[in-house]
Order: sequence, then structure tokens, then C-alpha cells
Amino acid sequence: MIIRDKSKITIQSMTKTKTADTAATITQINSLAAIGCDIIRVAVPDIESADAIAKIKGNITIPLVACIHFDHRLALRAIEAGADKIRINPGNIGSKENVKEIADACNKKNIPIRIGVNGGSLEKEILAKYKAVTPEAMVESIMNHIKLLNEFDFDNIWLSAKTSSVPLTVDTYRLLYEQTNYPLHIGITEAGTQYTGIIKSSIGIGALLLDGIGDTIRVSLTAEPEEEIKAAKAILQALNLRSGTDIISCPTCGRCNIDVMKIAQEVEQAIETGSTVLAPDTTLTIAIMGCAVNGPGEAKQADFGIAGGNNEGVIFAKGEIIKKAPMNNLVFELLEIMRAHK
Ligand code: SF4
Repeated sequence: MIIRDKSKITIQSMTKTKTADTAATITQINSLAAIGCDIIRVAVPDIESADAIAKIKGNITIPLVACIHFDHRLALRAIEAGADKIRINPGNIGSKENVKEIADACNKKNIPIRIGVNGGSLEKEILAKYKAVTPEAMVESIMNHIKLLNEFDFDNIWLSAKTSSVPLTVDTYRLLYEQTNYPLHIGITEAGTQYTGIIKSSIGIGALLLDGIGDTIRVSLTAEPEEEIKAAKAILQALNLRSGTDIISCPTCGRCNIDVMKIAQEVEQAIETGSTVLAPDTTLTIAIMGCAVNGPGEAKQADFGIAGGNNEGVIFAKGEIIKKAPMNNLVFELLEIMRAHK
């Protein structure tokens, strides 16, 4: 089993606002930071966006990565404005001289560069050699970029090699992990809408983390950015890489006489939004079970639990039945007991 430092893997997201709209961008970053985003990336498509970084940085508390494509001058302006990391694909930054200028500026400020190669932006020569986007092609592209930065005495490097295919991305990172020691930012790019995106990201990121691969993660979703953070935290929690409150609930069946779906959702929502229910950083397991067949057994493993009966349900704490309550009061009673625990 792989033992990892639980505090090591950080959650990254990207703003969906126009970066030059500093008020909206600052609000979004602070909202994401409040729910667990550790690092934020912003798009820098123009000079206004690069210059906006100074104001944004003055109003946020988490590190900011400036995402640059095509124009090295934007990277230089973003560095000047106080970006904490620069993400480039050296393949589309133009001449070696341009890359050198970025490397020198980053060296001077001691900030890292993330080489971000995506399946969709592989160099023509590499695509011609491999005929398709393959793990070997992705890794060769990255190794060339590392070599280039190293030529300029730059070694403060992060890597990412995302594609929209789960198997291809996983194979690429595994190969990359074998061949380099640089920290890796992992994720599935263009993963899709909330439902499919979370599935693809969980499989891809999960497989890699189980291999011990990955230092920062991004769940890319065509959804509100807060959903990315919630999903990322859930992935880390499911792999025991981050602590938090875990709700286990049964799928229900014909034996069930209570509305487990509603109860589980209400409890989840109360915990998610509710510092009034649990103190921050609380680590609990809460079981919501439909009946007594598995209910008490499962609830025994949990710190708190509900198990449904005929016209009422029972609330468990540390394996002991501590209260019986009518169906409609079960959530209220459970939350009251949890509040008392806080
Ligand atoms: Fe069915 Fe009871 Fe198992 Fe839930 S706990 S799935 S209701 S048998």
C-alpha cells in the first residue's frame, strides 16, 4: 500500500471569469478558496489580464498561476504583476529566445514554470513521428521542453500532460513518472459536464493517485468552479488522502420504509454548508441506512447514524442506539446530536 503525506496533494482550479474583470475574478477566487481550493489558475489572453494580476494578488490569499499561450510578453507582464507560477506550453511560445526570456524572469523571481502539454497541442513533428497522440509522443514533447528550460539553467519545473482520454492520460503520466522527478499536476482535460466530468476525473485522477502519482489535482468541469473543488475534495477523501466527514448511505431496496435519498441529501447539505453543525476540519463517518438488516451493523462503524424502522427510525452514536424518532424528525434529531458533539 502506498503511504502518502495527506497534506501534500493540493487542489487547483481555474477561474471562469474574465481575468481583466478584477472584481468578479477576486470574488470567484475567494469563494473557491473558502471551500478548499489551494491554488488558482487564471487565463492571461491579453495585456489587461496580465496587468490585472497585481490587483487580484492583493485581494486573495492563495497562490496564483498565470496561464499563457502564444505570447511570451504576456508571461513577462504576469511575472512582473506578481504571478506565483507560470503555465506555458513552450511549444507554442515561439522562438527559443522567447522561452529563455520567460525562464530568466522566473529565475529572477524564483517562481516555477509548469510545462503544460495537452493532447490537442502536440508539435507537428512529434505527431508526424508517432502518427497519433500516444503516451510516448506526449512524454517526448515534455522531455524536449524540459531540456530546453534546463539549457537556460532553469529547473524549477512542474509538469502536466493532460488529454481528454482517461486511459491515454493515465498511461502518459505513468510513463512521465518513470522518466522524471519533477512534480506533476494531474487531471483529465475537457472532461465534460458535471456528471461525466466527475466520473472521468475520478477514474483518471484516482488511478494515478493510487499509484502514488500526482502532486496537484484539477477536476476540469463544464460546470460552476465550486463543483470542481467539491469533486476534488471528494476524490482525495475517498482515497484517504484528505480527512473530512464521510457519509455512507445504503442504496435502499424493498425493505426500506424511510426516504433514505432525501435524508442523506439533507444531512449532506447541512454538513456541507454548515459550520453550525460541525466544526471545521471535523472527521466523522455518518451512516444513513434504510433498515435494520444492515443498518445497525454499518452504523456501528460510524460515529453517528440513522437506521430506518417501520414507523420510526433510530439514531446511533458510536454504535449505541441513543434515540428513537419519528421519520420526519430523524434529520433534525441527528443534527441536534451532532451539534452537541461539536
Ligand atoms: Fe435494503 Fe436495508 Fe440494505 Fe438499505 S440497509 S439496502 S434498506 S437491506
